[in-house]
Amino acid sequence: MVDVKIWLNQQQVSGGLRSLRPVIRRGKGRLTLAGDEARELIDFSSNDYLALAEHPALIAAAQEALGRFGAGSGAARLMSGDLALHHELEEAVAQLKGKEAALTFGSGYLANAGIIPALAARHDLIFSDRLNHASIHDGCRLSGARLIRFRHNDLNQLEDLLKEKRGTGTALIVVESIYSMDGDRCPLRELVQLKERFGCLLMVDEAHATGVFGENGGGVIEEDGVSEAVDLAMGTFGKALGSYGAYVAGNREMIDYLLNRARSFVFSTALPPAVTAASLAAVRLIRQEPELRRELHAKIAFFKALLQAGGYGAELGPSQIIPILVGESGAALAKAEQLRQQGIFVTAIRPPTVPKGTARLRFSLTRHHSPADLAQAAKALLELPGRAG
Ligand SMILES: *Cc1c(COP(=O)(O)O)cnc(C)c1O
Repeated sequence: MVDVKIWLNQQQVSGGLRSLRPVIRRGKGRLTLAGDEARELIDFSSNDYLALAEHPALIAAAQEALGRFGAGSGAARLMSGDLALHHELEEAVAQLKGKEAALTFGSGYLANAGIIPALAARHDLIFSDRLNHASIHDGCRLSGARLIRFRHNDLNQLEDLLKEKRGTGTALIVVESIYSMDGDRCPLRELVQLKERFGCLLMVDEAHATGVFGENGGGVIEEDGVSEAVDLAMGTFGKALGSYGAYVAGNREMIDYLLNRARSFVFSTALPPAVTAASLAAVRLIRQEPELRRELHAKIAFFKALLQAGGYGAELGPSQIIPILVGESGAALAKAEQLRQQGIFVTAIRPPTVPKGTARLRFSLTRHHSPADLAQAAKALLELPGRAG
């Protein structure tokens, strides 16, 4: 049994203690924190990449659904909580992801915690990238399957492990297409070859890719042309889609199976009408307005060029998530605080979210950021004392 007091003290000393600090004002990529009412900060830690959370189309759709159906959905989908709106959203998602069907969940965490145990059990194998999100890891552990973690993006090691351990039972490979803390990308085409060669199921978490990558915003699976081969394309509505909730897309059989077997779907209340309507509006927008994506990518290129002119290199990665490695938790916290003094809100990401010794600042770029915002952030970062870079 953990001693709560001792634990809290230890975390405090090591710089690992987390606490909450409410935002009291927010809008257009800026926020104000309680206790610091005079200061407006530029938000570099939001996952609302396309700035859809404040988009008039999402707000109008949510308001309309709220007026028509009320605040809550009242029951699980398999009871009376199942609205036509949920089906419309699932059809739109299936189309976006290039799959036959889709199923929505309360959140990405719930999706991963429900899907993985529905597919793999004791005597089965799960091959999981070491840097996979905590929700994937928890889903794996909950499944009771044998969990084999491979080095991040190391498909040679994965191949060796598959040769050595792949038996005759179910084997599931789980990856993210864009990694949430490193912003780097999974080599999906090579992975598909492995999955086919060894007869495994492939699940790809596109939490940070959907809406941001792909011609139609269908994610890296669309951009790499592997939608067909991916058995389970999972993602969240809480990030680039500016809403809340999550989905998995797959073939019809797979979805019929999951709606019977994924316990976080079966035993949980359906997404509220307003949230569902907002997600649907977002899915439509990202297909209809590719300029949302183009604008974001132009901002990413601009910001990276500024940092590269200041001495940063390839470690900035290929996506809207830009990790600035610091090392120790205390140092990362100190740098985040220094940046806050300069009007920049960026989160220090520390263990256990990332491996020990790799605490970092995680800049996440959104469509709200103006060239002036990006220049201000780059300047503040480059001028930090004792920069590790
Ligand atoms: C954020 C995230 C999730 C969880 O999604 P929520 O909808 O926020 O619960 C799952 N997987 C990855 C890779 C994520 O980044």
